Amino acid sequence: MSGGQTRAPAPAGTAGRRVLVVGAGIVGICSAAYLQRAGFQVTVVDRLAPGEGCSFGNAGNVSPGAVVPYSMPGTLLNVPRWLFDPLGPLSLPPAHLPKLLPWLLGWMAASRPSQVRRISKAMHALHQPVFEAYAPLLAAAGGSDLIVMTGQLYVSSKPGPLDSPLARELRQAAGIRAEDISGPQVREVEPTLAPHFQSGLLLPDNGTCLNPHRVVTVLAEQVARDGGAIRRGAVRGFRMEAGVPVAALTEDGEIAFDRLVLAAGAWSNALSRQLGLDVRLEAERGYHVTIADPGPMPRIPVTNRDSSFATAPMEMGLRLAGTAEYAGLDAPPNWRRARILLEHGRRMYPGLSTARVSEWMGCRPTLPDGLPIIDRSARHPNVVFAFGHSHFGLTAAPATGRIVADLAAGRTPQSIDIAPYRASRFAA
Ligand SMILES: Cc1cc2nc3c(=O)[nH]c(=O)nc-3n(C[C@H](O)[C@H](O)[C@H](O)COP(=O)(O)OP(=O)(O)OC[C@H]3O[C@@H](n4cnc5c(N)ncnc54)[C@H](O)[C@@H]3O)c2cc1C
Repeated sequence: MSGGQTRAPAPAGTAGRRVLVVGAGIVGICSAAYLQRAGFQVTVVDRLAPGEGCSFGNAGNVSPGAVVPYSMPGTLLNVPRWLFDPLGPLSLPPAHLPKLLPWLLGWMAASRPSQVRRISKAMHALHQPVFEAYAPLLAAAGGSDLIVMTGQLYVSSKPGPLDSPLARELRQAAGIRAEDISGPQVREVEPTLAPHFQSGLLLPDNGTCLNPHRVVTVLAEQVARDGGAIRRGAVRGFRMEAGVPVAALTEDGEIAFDRLVLAAGAWSNALSRQLGLDVRLEAERGYHVTIADPGPMPRIPVTNRDSSFATAPMEMGLRLAGTAEYAGLDAPPNWRRARILLEHGRRMYPGLSTARVSEWMGCRPTLPDGLPIIDRSARHPNVVFAFGHSHFGLTAAPATGRIVADLAAGRTPQSIDIAPYRASRFAA
């Protein structure tokens, strides 16, 4: 490392220390930081500046307690209602439906209770260490203040418990603290909320990120200070030597590597396909509005269960984020989806001032079972895949980074069973 620090010895069992990470989102940058700690010489390449993909605009929920998958028994029954509600959280332009169908079938299969229990365990293993896995990276980067354990609140205008019996079972099995609270208690926890909320679920051990973009940028700056290279360029493919990938091809030339980490988010399949892994990775497009000077600022992140969107106090103002739009990677944003969030936000926070609003759309990289692929390539042992973090990439990124560093070093991760994240689960 630069600055007089000593670098860890070259990892055993690996020929060559040069690792190229494709993708400077939160997953690629956390991987880069942990690869450096494992003694690798790291280059990160992205066609954008660090953190300008999906990681730019998420809702900031840092959720060790996120153990309830999105595909649950009965979720499908809500789909027609969501689709026909003009303010609903789901958008599925018919033109994309034929392409989406195989993914949708996989998503439906993942909602079987036995699958849900399996997926939940894998979510817990990846999410539970989030604070502890970010801590050394953020401390080194001077960004420890960016992630705060505030708790998270879920609210509904309907009375009764928010969790289904299965969701409750999953949280209990994982040992997640979650407290059902009444309408008056909801307003005690968050006084800026409208009076119509009649029930809540409080997760005291979850937290929030005060600026998801800044988390990526401070970590990327630290990767550079520690001797890594952060480069701009779009990777089009790979140069092979004797069947082994040895360099990434960009419009500005080649970047040679000994090891490759593919962390290109929703765009990963275009590159993984060239390396022998073709998976159904869907761009699950989400939107946000960030309101600068919103008036009374909520103190805790709140997810509105009725309208399926999240709200979070951030450095830049109050962020409202959500929506699942299945329109493919390249369709232009439908900014109506962002304005719907604003409409919901005004109902949720009666004192909200919405004079200064910015809008954003980003593509969640989502595989049919909602879990990422974190695995060494079956065809190319010098390639590690790390993509598909769907709704939980901010939460899962640092644990992913640790796994990536182990896999690149030829080690079996000791603290986590990586079988649920294997690419082979999608083998035909
Ligand atoms: C509205 C919304 C709210 C969310 N809320 C939360 C939340 O509260 N908590 C949470 O944990 N997660 C949340 N998420 C999910 C989280 O943001 C994502 O899972 C995460 O950002 C994915 O990170 P990534 O690094 O895999 O992808 P990205 O951040 O998209 O990074 C991938 C990078 O790869 C680059 N790239 C792609 N192809 C190439 C190429 N060929 N050559 C060079 N570079 C390339 C891209 O430019 C991009 O920068 C939310 C997502 C959305 C959309």
